[in-house]
Amino acid sequence: MLMVEHSVTVSPPREGGARSVVVVGAGVIGLATAWELLEAGWDVTVCDPEPMSGASFAAAGMLAPVSEVVWDQPTLYGLMVSAAMVWPRLAGRVASAVGRPVGHLTTETLVCASDRADRQALADLAVLQRRLGMDLDEISSSTARALEPALGPGVVGAVRIPDDHQVDPRRLMDALLEVIGRRGTVVTQQVTGVWWRDEAEGERRVGGVRLADGATLAADEVLVAAGLASGELEGLPDGLDLPLRPVWGDILRVRVPERLRPLLTRTVRGLVHGLPVYLVPRDDGTLVIGATSREDGLAGPSVGGVHQLLRDAQRLVPGVLECELLEVTARARPGTPDDVPLIGRVAPGLTVSTGYFRHGILLSALGARLGADLVAGKDIEPETAAAVDPYRFAPASAAPTRSTEEAAR
Ligand SMILES: Cc1cc2nc3c(=O)[nH]c(=O)nc-3n(C[C@H](O)[C@H](O)[C@H](O)COP(=O)(O)OP(=O)(O)OC[C@H]3O[C@@H](n4cnc5c(N)ncnc54)[C@H](O)[C@@H]3O)c2cc1C
Repeated sequence: MLMVEHSVTVSPPREGGARSVVVVGAGVIGLATAWELLEAGWDVTVCDPEPMSGASFAAAGMLAPVSEVVWDQPTLYGLMVSAAMVWPRLAGRVASAVGRPVGHLTTETLVCASDRADRQALADLAVLQRRLGMDLDEISSSTARALEPALGPGVVGAVRIPDDHQVDPRRLMDALLEVIGRRGTVVTQQVTGVWWRDEAEGERRVGGVRLADGATLAADEVLVAAGLASGELEGLPDGLDLPLRPVWGDILRVRVPERLRPLLTRTVRGLVHGLPVYLVPRDDGTLVIGATSREDGLAGPSVGGVHQLLRDAQRLVPGVLECELLEVTARARPGTPDDVPLIGRVAPGLTVSTGYFRHGILLSALGARLGADLVAGKDIEPETAAAVDPYRFAPASAAPTRSTEEAAR
């Protein structure tokens, strides 16, 4: 893999050559978008001082448009369903590019209730899920235990969801980074800001990025996919205030002892006295247990969060207490005011793709396509463009006009 550690300057492409793009951030969004751009023939450079170290490193990888649905989120729901539909193809293409699977499993999800109030909450949500045309089956606790014998006696009912699947984000990102290193360039440096260049007739457009060592990386286009840090780059257009906030999650990884395997054969999630918890079984015998949601500013794992996860996970699956604890991680999800991402062309030569909050792994399959199309100057479906517009929280006067954008293409 080509990993460039030092200061570099990439010249703009020669006449007739591939168009060049710098992608800022090697989380799932930056990497998946870089991959789509490579596939479309772009000359791609990805910059990140520590690739795969952000929220994507922590994520469980549930691809869960059905169990993650919430009231009053029709826009998000539409994006999640669209993303779920393109996942199998993305996983298949990346797997064949690296010659190994990326941990995409199409096993179903079981959502369990641990008391009558939890069961009622799941039944209420099922009304919405059915209204939205989602496939699910409410089952008794004994039917649930027949499917997953490791479920504890505290489970009083469950909902079976065939269309909620999973991917292993770390295996996926390893594969993407390998392909990008082979066919493009990875620069392990922080980007400090975007670099503007003057065009004819007083026009200005983004022409690359500034690196932490002072070097400039020139390119035809820049895509900012730096997760929570996206709004901290210098030189972003005036009026573009990316309203991102950190929503921390604690998450555990455990290894199931050989004698208990398989402890679970599908993702088990649930409500335990009103609190959500999930257990995601990987095909390597490990389990991912998550995930709390905190806005307390505590950057490391929270003692209370870890306690809550273990207490509630063992209520659903008592065998968890016999597993080996491998890892305790906390990361912040990049939240937005309406929980919908910020994706759009924000200035000539500059596209932003961030704010994927709780669903960035699921949405990456769709976000990567949207981001790559925007970088290429293609129109995206107007309703989607409006829903994810990075300027939607800014005063109308802040957004770039269409004519400025078109003149720059
Ligand atoms: C505990 C937890 C569990 C989750 N579980 C799920 C799940 O099951 N399913 C799901 O769909 N989503 C899940 N999510 C949400 C998902 O992880 C995020 O939405 C997604 O990872 C965001 O991806 P990203 O690429 O935008 O950001 P990140 O993964 O944070 O990547 C941003 C990258 O940018 C880099 N960077 C930052 N600043 C700079 C700079 N100046 N220059 C260069 N690079 C820079 C960082 O080093 C980092 O690598 C979970 C999140 C958490 C925290």
